Amino acid sequence: MRTKRKIILIFFGPPGSGKGTQAEMISEKIKIPAISAGKLLREEVENKTETGKAIEKIMSRGGLVPNSVIEKLLFKRMLKKDAARGFILDGYPRKKSQQDNLIKKLEGVTGQKDKIFAVLINVSDKEVKIRLGGRRICACGATYHIKFNPPKKKGICDLCGSKLRIRADDKPSVIADRLKIYHKEIAPIIDYWKKSGRLIKVDGERSIEAVHRGIVKSVSALINKIVSG
Ligand SMILES: [Zn+2]
Repeated sequence: MRTKRKIILIFFGPPGSGKGTQAEMISEKIKIPAISAGKLLREEVENKTETGKAIEKIMSRGGLVPNSVIEKLLFKRMLKKDAARGFILDGYPRKKSQQDNLIKKLEGVTGQKDKIFAVLINVSDKEVKIRLGGRRICACGATYHIKFNPPKKKGICDLCGSKLRIRADDKPSVIADRLKIYHKEIAPIIDYWKKSGRLIKVDGERSIEAVHRGIVKSVSALINKIVSG
């Protein structure tokens, strides 16, 4: 017999929204694991499992890891003991088809009284462009941001004096492309949660702490409802 209800939170947000960080902070706060799709893949590679070796091969060729592989790892992870009271998902689903698979899977492992909610961290395209486009890196490993963490001398690394550069992913045209793909793919996903009244929207254009407090407030209200209802 199930004695406790599960809470499942699925985090969404554009690149640069800090959703990974926020997922980890909420995980700490309400003591349910944060499951990151990217992290699961990296762990397989690090642990040199059969799956990990296959993933490494695909990624070294610049290929995309098949969805079936990601889902297999995720669905296995969701059933682990520490996720018995629920979990947070970060970095998945990214496509409507993935969400359809996920919902089907969740129907099998959750009861009517369990709560599944989407948490959307809202950040405007303009802000994403400032956050990602302002990042600078140095060959020595140091990282900077022209607005939030500038080097003492413009374009030069404080630590080693080398010229700073922009990561390929952070170039304006690449950011614009990433945002275009994000909006196209996220729209039908978010639409589903909105229509079913299970979308928690948070203003992500604040400090990490303020965003965290915003999410805690919404999620606490949700948990109280679960406990009392
Ligand atoms: Zn340097």
